[in-house]
Amino acid sequence: MKLCRFTSRGTFAFRYGIVEGDIVRPLMDEDAFGVSPRASTDKISLNDVTILSPVTPSKIVCVGRNYLEHAIELGNKMPDEPLLFLKAPSAVIASGEDIVLPEQSTQVEYEGELGAVIGRAASKLKEDDDPLAYVLGYTCVNDVTARDLQRKDVQFTRAKSFDTFCPVGPWIETDIDPGDVSVTTRLNGKVMQHARTSAMAFSVPFLVRYISQVMTLNPGDLIATGTPAGVSRLSELDEVEVEVEGVGVLRNRVRSLEMA
Ligand code: MG
Repeated sequence: MKLCRFTSRGTFAFRYGIVEGDIVRPLMDEDAFGVSPRASTDKISLNDVTILSPVTPSKIVCVGRNYLEHAIELGNKMPDEPLLFLKAPSAVIASGEDIVLPEQSTQVEYEGELGAVIGRAASKLKEDDDPLAYVLGYTCVNDVTARDLQRKDVQFTRAKSFDTFCPVGPWIETDIDPGDVSVTTRLNGKVMQHARTSAMAFSVPFLVRYISQVMTLNPGDLIATGTPAGVSRLSELDEVEVEVEGVGVLRNRVRSLEMA
């Protein structure tokens, strides 16, 4: 099932819905985090809605260096444990919105990633808990990064958290196996990153259990599971796409502040 958040043309109120082909069936529930979402019988064409980011997370937990080839390309060693950092929730944008290049950086890069969306609160999961039972589904994430500022600052907060630096979407797919799907990033149509999640050092269930030992994961929270090799710079007017197999394509254009 593909869960989206949307507004109908001419309205401001958002709703959740289930995407089926080129139609959206609105949910009768107020959010997508109930036991089992119930769709109404209404059918709205995808062309007549604006797709919003599927989540408005209370936090975005990111994993650094989860693919060996990417650690190597940035001159880093693989960590023994997941390398966690936070990205500001205010950076979230939807598929179709613009990534805005900040004037403080001259090296803004894409990072295509599998995103895991938490469905119910997860705290201190034990060995016999099933971490995937706490995950609602999966989406595409672009962990946009000001690489020059990441190198310059002691930690990642500024480099990862400019407004618009977290494209998420277009929706949440509830029925894929996060352990073996492809993640592909295209820049102006050219494939720049392509890997399978089976190459991740730390799997989604491992990460959910690991993070839950540190902080409570709330419904709607987003885990960005790390990027494969092949990162490079974004420039004005670029179009960047992140595709997770079985989910869909997250598509954003890039612009400078002056173009606003
Ligand atoms: Mg990343």
